[in-house]
Amino acid sequence: MKTMPLLSQAEAVAFLKQHQISPTLQRLAIARIFFVEHQHLSADVIQEKLAELNIRVAKATVYNSLNLFVRKGLLKEIHIGAGKVVYDSNTEPHYHLYYEDEGRLCDVDYQDLPIEMPANTQLKQIDLILRVASSNA
Ligand SMILES: [Zn+2]
Repeated sequence: MKTMPLLSQAEAVAFLKQHQISPTLQRLAIARIFFVEHQHLSADVIQEKLAELNIRVAKATVYNSLNLFVRKGLLKEIHIGAGKVVYDSNTEPHYHLYYEDEGRLCDVDYQDLPIEMPANTQLKQIDLILRVASSNA
């Protein structure tokens, strides 16, 4: 079985404190899973990963923690349609490729696909999803 990459407990405590979030057991566990790398995870997948670590967290608590991280600017909520929401630990402006057949999101650098902005505007956030299929599918 592949081992799950995780932040250490100490790294997760420091990270949450740095963002004025009190480190409850549930928040720490979610932070250890999520903030170890840039990734896109749904609440369901988070709950599965918690279960793999033998940590039982109610779905409502998972959502409360994720929403708190979103309010603190640590995660971005991405609506990929049909009521599906995933959370993104890459909070820099970027596009997404969405492989619909695999349900997989891929980051694309803003620099790789720049859009000329009108004068006197500042890019704050990107909510652009390009729906794609693998060409060999
Ligand atoms: Zn992303």
